[in-house]
Amino acid sequence: MAMEMNSKKKDNSGTNLVLPGDKIAVIEEFLPDEFCYEQDGGIYSRVLGHVVTDPKKHKISVVPTKPHRSIKNGDIGIGRVEFMKKQIAMIDIYHLNQEDLLVPVSAVLHISEASRRFVKNMYEVTRPGDWLRFKIIRAVRPLYISLIGESLGVIIAFCIHCGHELKYKRRNILECLNCEHTQPRITSKSFGKPLIRKMRLVGNETK
Ligand SMILES: [Zn+2]
Repeated sequence: MAMEMNSKKKDNSGTNLVLPGDKIAVIEEFLPDEFCYEQDGGIYSRVLGHVVTDPKKHKISVVPTKPHRSIKNGDIGIGRVEFMKKQIAMIDIYHLNQEDLLVPVSAVLHISEASRRFVKNMYEVTRPGDWLRFKIIRAVRPLYISLIGESLGVIIAFCIHCGHELKYKRRNILECLNCEHTQPRITSKSFGKPLIRKMRLVGNETK
């Protein structure tokens, strides 16, 4: 998951500006890396930016055109979990310093920054599709975030069994009123509040 910017070769055609949703390759040619996604065998850009390929690793990425205004340690953001493993989760930041970002920015959450108390693995913290409120603890790429702090943690979460939005049961425990499973999360004090509009829109899109 580490940045591989150094190994990337810039496509210097100069005319490779793409829009969000533009098809930039097919899966037989490349694996989608940063700021792009795969759908039905095609690879599409998630942002306005320039296409960059790494033929050696068969990876393709899009580099957003505008660098984001200065991000600082301690900045508070809101984002959605896109991907996770035992030790880390990848988050797309949609909102930072009370402003919506036109282009989501990727960030990493490491298990050691999930909670003050010991947590065994990321499955006790969050799941893909959840929305988090967090603070920035590494302000240069790759960005790192932390859930340790007042009001930080999961704000909206979805059942891993049936996809329904989960309800708050007690701190760090959520329940599904649809299928009656309880599930652990590191909950924010703001749990259940869709703090930004996009949160609910995007959250529901995936279900
Ligand atoms: Zn459920």
